[in-house]
Amino acid sequence: MKLTCHCENIEIEADAPTQLTTCNCSICRRYQSLWGYYSPQDVSITTGEGGSRAYVWGDREIEFVHCAACGCVTHYKTLEGKASPVVALNFRMVREQEVVDVPRRFFDGESMI
Ligand SMILES: [Zn+2]
Repeated sequence: MKLTCHCENIEIEADAPTQLTTCNCSICRRYQSLWGYYSPQDVSITTGEGGSRAYVWGDREIEFVHCAACGCVTHYKTLEGKASPVVALNFRMVREQEVVDVPRRFFDGESMI
């Protein structure tokens, strides 16, 4: 499955997700992101000349990446050196009809803080 930001500067290829997660934590509720989780080696991320920017905060476990040109949040990833590296892809970057049949999980991130 192919995910792209709005201007197609960032392109991501990965197998179709088996489950997608929404979350109400302080950042996911703002991004309204829809996450599918992968091992880094199972994901191909290409960034064009428009570049990308990362946002890291708090305990510095993960960085959220957005397109520097159009601003779409395409994915987050665990920072270097973490024991179990994960890439989470934002499936708002595909048409809803492509993932309409994928089971959704709600994660109560707000209560974890
Ligand atoms: Zn873009």
